[in-house]
Amino acid sequence: MKWEDMKNRKRELGYSNAQLSELSGVPLGTLNKILSGDTKAPRYATLQAIEKALFPEKRNEAPPRQAADAGRISEGKATYGKGPTESMTIHDKKDVTLSCVDCGTQNCLFQNSTYPDFCLSTHLDQDLLAEAMKEYEKPEIKKIALSAAEVEADNYCKMTRIEETIEFAKKIGAKKIGVATCAGLVKESRMVVRILRKRGFEPISIACKCGTQKKVDIGAPERCEAVGVYMCNPILQAKYLNSQHTDLNILVGLCVGHDSMFYKYADAPVTTLIAKDRVLGHNPVAALYQAEQYYHRLLDD
Ligand code: SF4
Repeated sequence: MKWEDMKNRKRELGYSNAQLSELSGVPLGTLNKILSGDTKAPRYATLQAIEKALFPEKRNEAPPRQAADAGRISEGKATYGKGPTESMTIHDKKDVTLSCVDCGTQNCLFQNSTYPDFCLSTHLDQDLLAEAMKEYEKPEIKKIALSAAEVEADNYCKMTRIEETIEFAKKIGAKKIGVATCAGLVKESRMVVRILRKRGFEPISIACKCGTQKKVDIGAPERCEAVGVYMCNPILQAKYLNSQHTDLNILVGLCVGHDSMFYKYADAPVTTLIAKDRVLGHNPVAALYQAEQYYHRLLDD
């Protein structure tokens, strides 16, 4: 690859020299000299490291051990919000809209760099921003927003999610808590309810199969019966918890799409405790961490 192409990509992604150094593992001093032209003939391995940082899709060509390392680096950067993401590979395609995940600077967060050309902050419709900010003035929304901010700040990296959920429930003054559970995770939901009762809440649960309706009766193809005849009924779960006037609902392992319906129909705020993933022990992010290795099918054409 031409050095000029790499410089263009660096500019396009909005990386500073320090960011590129961090991402590529090339010492900043070395990188500065290369970029300023002081180093006329950089080592091949150095150029390769820079290229891989700028074109993450190239990591797929690395031998397994390196690919695994690259995956961890990518994950770490994403966690701390400083680095590129795999979606940068879409830069090579013409028909995509660049957005925050394609950003190399996250200057809206760090305020120490430049904004990329496509930055959503600098191109923001100010009316839309004002409209969003106005929502926080509504007392019920303000309570949720401030409670969420305090729970995060006061317990950052100290509390588990169930503990944070309890703190959040306390802060918004919730008493009656709905537990919308997958029938397959009733054991886990029992523990949730037990903990909530211990903490003085009034939990009320409803399982997804409640009402015992058949999938085929709403038009699902017969093959769907292979994993169970009766349908999950998230609309009923939401409506039942609405009828019980819950102050907060906790979602425990509803299936993809069933959770969407629950969010849509629930009156009270919903927080998700468990995101179902039958393959990964309800830890869906593992597939993303391993998308360059064991789950490369996710990125294959
Ligand atoms: S708002 Fe702008 S600076 Fe922030 S992540 Fe999105 S593109 Fe990057």
